[in-house]
Amino acid sequence: MIKAVASACLLGMKTRYDGGTNEDPEIVEMFKRGEIIPICPEQLGGLPTPREPFEFVGGDGEALLEGRAYLKGLNTGRDGSENFLRGAREVLRIVKLAGIEKAYLKEGSPSCGVNWVHIEGNLVRGCGVTAALLKRAGIEVEGRLPPSSVREK
Ligand code: SF4
Repeated sequence: MIKAVASACLLGMKTRYDGGTNEDPEIVEMFKRGEIIPICPEQLGGLPTPREPFEFVGGDGEALLEGRAYLKGLNTGRDGSENFLRGAREVLRIVKLAGIEKAYLKEGSPSCGVNWVHIEGNLVRGCGVTAALLKRAGIEVEGRLPPSSVREK
C-alpha cells in the first residue's frame, strides 16, 4: 500500500542538479515494498537534469510562497522561482490524488529541504518550496540525509 511520496534522488534516481543521487537505503526498502511514489519537484517544474544549482535570496521556501524571496541560478543569475513553484504544485497534486499524508524529502535542497536550505551562500535553518507547500496543506514532511556539514554537528 502506498504510504508516502519521497524525493526521487533518495531512491537512487539520478535526478540531482549535478546528475547525481542521494540514495537512502531505508527509503529504497520502502519503495521495494510498494509504499513510495518517487517525485522530483525540480524535474516536474520543467528544469533539466543536469541543471544549474539554485539558492534562495531573501528567505526560504515559506518566504518565497509569500513573495518575499526568490531562487537564483548560481551560473546565470536567473530567477527560477516559477519552475520551483510549478514543481511544488505538481507534487501537491500527486499527494492529493493518491490520498497521501506523508513525504520523505532530501534535506538541504531548495525544493525538498525540510529543516535546512542554502540562503545567499549559507546553510541555514529553513525549508524548501515543496516542503513549505506540503506543510501548508497539512502533509507531514520528514527531512532525510541532512548535508554532511550538519550531520557532523
Ligand atoms: S532533492 Fe528534490 S528536487 Fe533535488 S533532485 Fe532530489 S527530488 Fe529532485
